[in-house]
Amino acid sequence: MSQEALEATRYYFDKAAKLLELPEDVSLQLKTPHRELRVECNIERDDGSIGTYIGFRVQHDNARGPFKGGLRYHHHVDAAEVTALATLMTWKTAVVNVPFGGAKGGIACKPWEMSQAELQRLTRKFVDGIYEIIGNKTDIPAPDMYTNAQVMAWIFDQYGKYRGYEPGVVTGKPVEMAGSLGRNAATGRGCVYATLELLEALGEKVEGQRVIIQGFGNVGSWAGKILQDLGAKIVGISDISGGYINPAGIDCDAAAAHVAQSEKHTLEGFAAERIDGAAILTADCDILIPAALGGQLTKENAGDVRAKIIVEGANGPTTPEADEIFIDKGIHVIPDIYANAGGVTVSYFEWVQNMQHFYWEEDRVNTELHKIMKKSFTHLYDISKKHDCDLRTAAFVLGVGRVWEATHMRGL
Ligand code: NAD
Repeated sequence: MSQEALEATRYYFDKAAKLLELPEDVSLQLKTPHRELRVECNIERDDGSIGTYIGFRVQHDNARGPFKGGLRYHHHVDAAEVTALATLMTWKTAVVNVPFGGAKGGIACKPWEMSQAELQRLTRKFVDGIYEIIGNKTDIPAPDMYTNAQVMAWIFDQYGKYRGYEPGVVTGKPVEMAGSLGRNAATGRGCVYATLELLEALGEKVEGQRVIIQGFGNVGSWAGKILQDLGAKIVGISDISGGYINPAGIDCDAAAAHVAQSEKHTLEGFAAERIDGAAILTADCDILIPAALGGQLTKENAGDVRAKIIVEGANGPTTPEADEIFIDKGIHVIPDIYANAGGVTVSYFEWVQNMQHFYWEEDRVNTELHKIMKKSFTHLYDISKKHDCDLRTAAFVLGVGRVWEATHMRGL
């Protein structure tokens, strides 16, 4: 899967490079990652045995600013997946025009089988392995799948043991530890702002739209809650425990409370019709939000997708074959490098606050986020009209074009 993720990001890049008429040597320069670090992390498990885990940090590009990107804990993590995700970050920060480049990290592990103490030891060991290449002006990690504000707090603390107080070394921190108000909800909120922009462009309203969300973690649960508050009807949600549907509407606040209280932090036992997790993607709805793993929408299930809009909360949820099917069917796909960029945008605000040691009200965070999502949509929508192309190709044209301009101006 991971190699496929890397090939997919290159496929989308090549489509944009063609429209931008980039020479082959330039394309190769832009696609090639700057640095790939692999670290062995040995920790003592709670039962006294030794756990050996492999972690990665891939820094793809920093022409437009310090490397920036999340840290994922999942057993599928490998060098190819992290490289694919780092590459997407480069185009994403450029699409929303925040002054960062792209990076990603990950540790191959099953965090749901580990205790908090083990996760803390693993995180600190990983920082020991990468601290020399991160920093508030070099590379700034953030949360991704199965990492959260607590993990960011451990990174902040462990890094500080080497380099002193430097809150801007990592974003997505707890608000009590130099984090930003609004960061926790930012990726889901950004997905909603992106959806509102497309609906407006199509002359439609959010009220009454039937929404299905795959993955009810940070991104999915916030997107669901905010859409529900705006009058959309959430008719299906899913997580690692399976799919849950209710055509009359699911209360996302109740679902989030269920997850928070459940032993394994899943939807298991939630009061709604239970269906197979994969079947949620093809269930009846207007808007589908994949917000879990990559590679979920494939040539096998794309033809059966009934939504008319797909909002990519997850990174890389659509394979190129599925993407072509959606283009043929006239399904609007709001691509990951724009749709889920609310997270990195508010990470940028957090970093700005950390650098200035001056903290914003939540309203300001949300208002600035809304402005950036609106402006970025206008840019990519205009490009899609100019080149008569889908929104993903337009987003890659925008992102890759900006990175190329900066690279060119820097020179070799
Ligand atoms: P999370 O760990 O908070 O939640 C992940 C959710 O996905 C959980 O509900 C989990 O049960 C579910 N899940 C895992 N495997 C699944 C499967 N096979 N089928 C259905 N559900 C499954 O993660 P998150 O931070 O919400 O990230 C979700 C996606 O959004 C990832 O692709 C991530 O890269 C992307 N993303 C996250 C952020 C962020 O700020 N957190 C920013 C940009 C993009």
